[in-house]
Amino acid sequence: MKLDKDYWEEKWESKKTGWDIGYSSPAIEAYLSHYQNTEAKVLIPGCGNAYEIDVLWKLGFRNVTILDFAPTAVQILKDKCKEMKGVSVICEDFFNHHGTYDLIIEQTFFCAIPPSLRIKYADKMHELLNKDGRIIGVMFNRNFKESGPPFGGSISEYKLIFEKYFEIQKMEECYNSIQSRRGSEIFINFKKEI
Ligand code: SAH
Repeated sequence: MKLDKDYWEEKWESKKTGWDIGYSSPAIEAYLSHYQNTEAKVLIPGCGNAYEIDVLWKLGFRNVTILDFAPTAVQILKDKCKEMKGVSVICEDFFNHHGTYDLIIEQTFFCAIPPSLRIKYADKMHELLNKDGRIIGVMFNRNFKESGPPFGGSISEYKLIFEKYFEIQKMEECYNSIQSRRGSEIFINFKKEI
């Protein structure tokens, strides 16, 4: 099965968006509420309904890019964000995206891509970040019985992938996960040092 744009677009068109929790993850919200620099350039890749945008907007972030390659998702977001000056909605494959960011938000995107692309994901994230930039967000710390997506994993697997690219400032059990993901999610904060 190819997890390409057509695969995801079909999910969006048929409303099989089982990953969508309906609001932004409280763990991400808590992190953002303490993030001082609202001038930061922020990217949310594989953003789906991008609920985080409401939080960012309320906090005063005005330099935000949200990206997904499923046209249906992007249309929903374009309608939602049309009054939000400073929010760019892009329909593009993450791996082809160019830009420079201070903060990239991860929420159910890493687990959506094939595990064979995980190193490419880390490499691309590194390329997209400014020095001292970081990826923050949540990742699964469990495996799934059915073949993915979502694809699971563990702290030790992720460490092997990301430590070559980032300083792993945090990768630990998430204490403020939503109920259905409690105990199966970690909070990550990876900083680009060089
Ligand atoms: N972050 C959202 C959506 C997660 S589902 C949430 O948590 O609700 C994964 C999303 O990533 C889908 O909307 C899919 O269309 C998108 N996606 C998957 N691979 C992608 C890629 N290579 N480039 C851009 N978007 C991608």
